[in-house]
Amino acid sequence: MSESLMEVKDLKKYYRISSREGNAKQTLKAVDGVSFDIKKGEILGIVGESGCGKSTLGKTVLRLHEKTEGEVLYGGRDLFSLDHKEMVDLRKSIQMVFQDPFSSLNPRKKVGSLISQPLRIHKAGTPAEIAEKVDSIMEEVGINPMYKNRFPHQFSGGQRQRIGIARALTLNPEFVVCDEAVSALDVSVQAQILNLLQDLREKHDLTYMFIAHDLAVVEYISTRIVVMYLGKIIEMADKDELVKNHTHPYTKALFNAFPLTDPHKRDQKEKIVMGDVPSPINPPTGCHFHPRCPYAKDICKQQYPPLKEVSPGHMSACWLNE
Ligand code: SF4
Repeated sequence: MSESLMEVKDLKKYYRISSREGNAKQTLKAVDGVSFDIKKGEILGIVGESGCGKSTLGKTVLRLHEKTEGEVLYGGRDLFSLDHKEMVDLRKSIQMVFQDPFSSLNPRKKVGSLISQPLRIHKAGTPAEIAEKVDSIMEEVGINPMYKNRFPHQFSGGQRQRIGIARALTLNPEFVVCDEAVSALDVSVQAQILNLLQDLREKHDLTYMFIAHDLAVVEYISTRIVVMYLGKIIEMADKDELVKNHTHPYTKALFNAFPLTDPHKRDQKEKIVMGDVPSPINPPTGCHFHPRCPYAKDICKQQYPPLKEVSPGHMSACWLNE
């Protein structure tokens, strides 16, 4: 697992939006200078509260959104330098699984048609070959192919997500971004879908970027975890290292908010920091986390802390590391 499949370099995605008062435009820095790589075969978890920029990041690394600045190298090529035809070709290799795959699809289309759509768009086989592929991928995700003439509303939430995963895998991608893919499901169904994603990864040699606000879910499935706060990476490490040795006060607060470890070991001090996330349009000066941080000192209000290596492969952005 050492070869980089994707390298993200100082990626920024800003939006110009109108203020409530009138004409003045403001800048929303949804993703604000993030750099990381994704190794072939790994599951990179991206975690953070709602509004931290993780979904925008997922869509921008797939070029579903145009960037503001920075680079996304996929197999060594900058995604944003590709022309339309090259991008259409690459789309076969990079796919996305959404929270509700049917929210943007025609509810009057039968499931078989929805799953075969990417194959038909890319002319990936004869009608007989496409029908065979639909049957086999439905079986793989645990949906009986005899149900392919049913409509989306005739399936449960978990089954619909299996169908969404089938649709993402029809073109045999190598990289899949899962954006809150289990967030809408019951906990018992979540585990089934996470296990399915694990099985499919092993069988098809897939690499995932797994985005979720739920740290328990990210911890369950990921091999490495990135923690985001207001558009920036504030901590990043292999899963086991992050679980045992997280250093950033925000990561500590996240772990305390989700009951993952022995409750007696939780630091009471961190519990008080979980208030509302400030607006990304006008984030706090210095370290964006300082208004919620019980350890904030003067420098935290003035300068943003650099993302530094605190142990091999473990990066953290906090003045306490200095
Ligand atoms: Fe808290 Fe300061 Fe570290 Fe930010 S830099 S997390 S405010 S101690």
